[in-house]
Amino acid sequence: METGPSLTSDMSDGTAVDEVRDRIEQELRRVMDRLRQLGGAMVSEEFPAAPADDNQSPDLLDVVQVQEEREVSFATRDLLVERANRLAEALKRLREGAYGICEECGEPIAPARLQAMPEVTTCVRCQDWLERTAERPGVRRR
Ligand SMILES: [Zn+2]
Repeated sequence: METGPSLTSDMSDGTAVDEVRDRIEQELRRVMDRLRQLGGAMVSEEFPAAPADDNQSPDLLDVVQVQEEREVSFATRDLLVERANRLAEALKRLREGAYGICEECGEPIAPARLQAMPEVTTCVRCQDWLERTAERPGVRRR
């Protein structure tokens, strides 16, 4: 098994690639753990809206609350899955020697940004631009 020559070199600010890989793998494990926890909770959970006959009346507030929690955990789950995918992607890019390069403009991503979010694939400028364009779900009219 051969490795590319770029893999052994250090990143621009002296961060070893191995170190970065460790961080990403750690993060990925943590995300997977959380996903497993969430997944287990959701599988064992019975549908909460089913009327219980041992109580005088079903507590509507409780049902609403449970549904909200459920939505939150779905959203969290989605986010975690997305994060896991990104981290796995980052590991792949690391192997390919493409890590730390903005996939939008091809410029190197700032080391501080990679430190904070090792899975990012775009530089601050492109991320900003992407978020701005994503924020418009269509032109608003009155
Ligand atoms: Zn960019």
